Amino acid sequence: MAAPNSEAPTADTPTESAGGDQPAAPAKKARWTFQWKELFDEVISSGLCTGCAGCVISCPHDVIGYKHEPGQYKPFHLEDELGPTDCGHGQKGCTSCTRACPRFRHWETEADEHLFGRVREPDEMSGVYKDIMLVRAKSDEIYDQGQDGGLVSQILIWALENDVIDGALVSHLEGGTNGWKAKPAVATNREEVLAGAGSRYTYSANTMAFPEAKERGLSRLALVGMSCQTSIAPVMWHRKIGKVSKPIKLNIGLLCSKSFDDAMFDELFYIKYGLVKEDIVKMNIKGVFQVWMRNGDYHEINLKECHAWTREGCNHCPDFAAEHADISTGGIGNITDWTLTIVRTDLGRAVIQAMMDDGVIETRPGDDDPAAIALMHKLAAKSRARWPEWANDEARVGLPS
Ligand SMILES: Cc1cc2nc3c(=O)[nH]c(=O)nc-3n(C[C@H](O)[C@H](O)[C@H](O)COP(=O)(O)OP(=O)(O)OC[C@H]3O[C@@H](n4cnc5c(N)ncnc54)[C@H](O)[C@@H]3O)c2cc1C
Ligand code: SF4
Ligand code: SF4
Repeated sequence: MAAPNSEAPTADTPTESAGGDQPAAPAKKARWTFQWKELFDEVISSGLCTGCAGCVISCPHDVIGYKHEPGQYKPFHLEDELGPTDCGHGQKGCTSCTRACPRFRHWETEADEHLFGRVREPDEMSGVYKDIMLVRAKSDEIYDQGQDGGLVSQILIWALENDVIDGALVSHLEGGTNGWKAKPAVATNREEVLAGAGSRYTYSANTMAFPEAKERGLSRLALVGMSCQTSIAPVMWHRKIGKVSKPIKLNIGLLCSKSFDDAMFDELFYIKYGLVKEDIVKMNIKGVFQVWMRNGDYHEINLKECHAWTREGCNHCPDFAAEHADISTGGIGNITDWTLTIVRTDLGRAVIQAMMDDGVIETRPGDDDPAAIALMHKLAAKSRARWPEWANDEARVGLPS
């Protein structure tokens, strides 16, 4: 087990002041010296790593690879020089990977400070936010293809068509609509956005589409992702990583309590229930795993049966509500087919307001579905309880001791 990260020095640790009667010198920020070695010990081998790939896209020397295979979803070091646990570039001063990691040391409070100018209070289990509403796309085409109200796809299409962004990092499906292996992809137009609409409950590190976006010369990106992915950009901004964090302009979060290993399709859906992956047309999770087949059949699978395929990286994840997104989205509550929408930042509010003004979305107050809000807070507390006590205690703030 790696060293707990509660005692570790951070970029914010003041240096010691001069002794004696001298007035204390103003606190100086300690230099950020942490590299792959610390990341490996404290995050990757300790079980905190979510597989978000923030470190992979941040590495200026391209020496971090990513294992996409079932049972993996993890970064690894590509150079043999110092073995898998240390990095020669890190020894010479490179610190990009730890600056990008949304599970390294004080990631939660740093991202909070950066986005909101304060850390969340104990009663803010779902993170800091401005508004909660229910939203759906007015376009039937977008609404029909969206998982809930189609809001995420509508935001991306609106932002691309109004030149707010020039690309989005999303998830597509390997093999088109017949495949269920989610893969990171770049969307630059309505068609490419809609090709990714809907939810896959397996993992797609959408951040991994970043190099393609860069190659295509895109510089104003939206990142769509589960909470682990949406904390990457604010953490990078706070830790001043530089160039790699600049193109991410809009951060759209998906509420998430876990994602599943791809092996679940073969090992549970097919072997036990005879459900052929290629014939599944839609999935959703509403208390049970709902599965719709091409021939019109509908199946429900008890979520308890799926737990064995929970991705290892999710077991310690404390963030259900995508607390560092500009806008977080989910599908819980009694009013189905609307996107539960948590607006967190000024940018998020401006985007929603502009879309309302343009008449592309329909909104209702969040208070129309108090059960959805109560459930979000409950699930947020449940996820926070997964954050280990041996790690820093910030993500557990608000839980009964
Ligand atoms: C793994 C996972 C777990 C989730 N768990 C919950 C939950 O417990 N409770 C809850 O309320 N909501 C959950 N959601 C969010 C919910 O399913 C919807 O994505 C959300 O409500 C937005 O709906 P929409 O109709 O506005 O989005 P849409 O317009 O359908 O757009 C969805 C966007 O999500 C992206 N996407 C789809 N699958 C993935 C994936 N596997 N990885 C990364 N990006 C993806 C697509 O590229 C698309 O841009 C989860 C989503 C995922 C992907
Ligand atoms: S949590 Fe993300 S950034 Fe941190 S080590 Fe894992 S993959 Fe890399
Ligand atoms: S539970 Fe969701 S947000 Fe957390 S690590 Fe897993 S996929 Fe990421």
